[in-house]
Amino acid sequence: MNAVNLLEFDLDGLTAFCEQLGEKRFRATQLFHWIHQKGASDFTLMSDLAKSLRDKLAGTATISALTVASEQASSDGTIKWLFDVGGGNAVETVFIPEDDRGTLCVSSQAGCAVGCRFCSTGHQGFSRNLSTGEIVAQLWFAEHHLRQRLRLAAGERAITNVVMMGMGEPLQNYAALVPSLRVMLDDHGYGLSRRRVTVSTSGVLPMIDRLRDDCPVALAVSLHAPNDTLRDDLVPLNRKYRIDELLAACQRYLDKAPRDFITFEYCMLDGVNDTPEHALQLVELVRDSIACKLNLIPFNPFPESGLKRSPRDRVTAFARILQDAGIVTTIRKTRGDDIDAACGQLAGEVQDRTRARERLSARAPIRIHRPGAAGGAGPKKQETKA
Ligand code: SF4
Repeated sequence: MNAVNLLEFDLDGLTAFCEQLGEKRFRATQLFHWIHQKGASDFTLMSDLAKSLRDKLAGTATISALTVASEQASSDGTIKWLFDVGGGNAVETVFIPEDDRGTLCVSSQAGCAVGCRFCSTGHQGFSRNLSTGEIVAQLWFAEHHLRQRLRLAAGERAITNVVMMGMGEPLQNYAALVPSLRVMLDDHGYGLSRRRVTVSTSGVLPMIDRLRDDCPVALAVSLHAPNDTLRDDLVPLNRKYRIDELLAACQRYLDKAPRDFITFEYCMLDGVNDTPEHALQLVELVRDSIACKLNLIPFNPFPESGLKRSPRDRVTAFARILQDAGIVTTIRKTRGDDIDAACGQLAGEVQDRTRARERLSARAPIRIHRPGAAGGAGPKKQETKA
């Protein structure tokens, strides 16, 4: 019989497992505490568990970390790990330290099937979903590794925030995602508040509704365009779920969300979605329809995308239009640029099963909006990028 990896379980799952072994429910809580709060992987060291239970666990279970294939540290303190998940696939996880927090950016899939134009992961295609254990193992490793590396005092936490913004579309791996979130939130696990755990989605509508009911954490939505025509091209999932339906789902989500706004991510692409006309369309789109915050993300170029980063002054001007309209808008600081750990740059190793590279390279070139052209419902005067 293969040993069960206990990182696969939230507390309910671990309780059921312990009951199968003929153990009382509270034993699961003790075990969970050892695994997630103390980072233990050796049953013999779990001193308050009965020896009989430790023996049973040794015969049936394991606590298996992912293999670290490589680690890179940026000059700004950002650390990126590449984890081998077998079968020729590897996923990336990024730790971003700031003065008042430590954020871990976690992957949910080996690759991604959504295929956003501006995303390095999307260009790699898709291999498979990660299991709950593989998602949790990223946090488990990072938290306990960093406690030692940063010489944290007892009780201090290295990771205060988790963002599901690494490789993959988390809501296309819903069954594994939700137990992972529960491990992060559980007071016997990592004890993170729902406000400090963010799921980022390109807009898988039915799953936004399910997440609201099952495990409402903070929600970020990759918007990236103010109209369907442009978003169809940048975020292909938009052809299935339109912007108005997406905003309606966000509105429903707010009924149970831990924050009273939705964060919209908007990657600033030179000449594509960054003109004043686009900003005004965005204002029209969200101002009276949804409580939101806009997060403008400087694009991190990679060769296959054929896209460029918007100049800084255009990003600032774009932000000002939104702010003047009363929309809370921030410009994301780029972190980990020198180790390709910034937003949209994550690209582990993916044994693509979707032929994404061919599909993406067969797409028509992205249309470029000529600055100063007439505004309106969509980018009217356009030219094709060479
Ligand atoms: S931005 Fe997110 S959803 Fe889009 S391809 Fe990249 S990982 Fe997938």
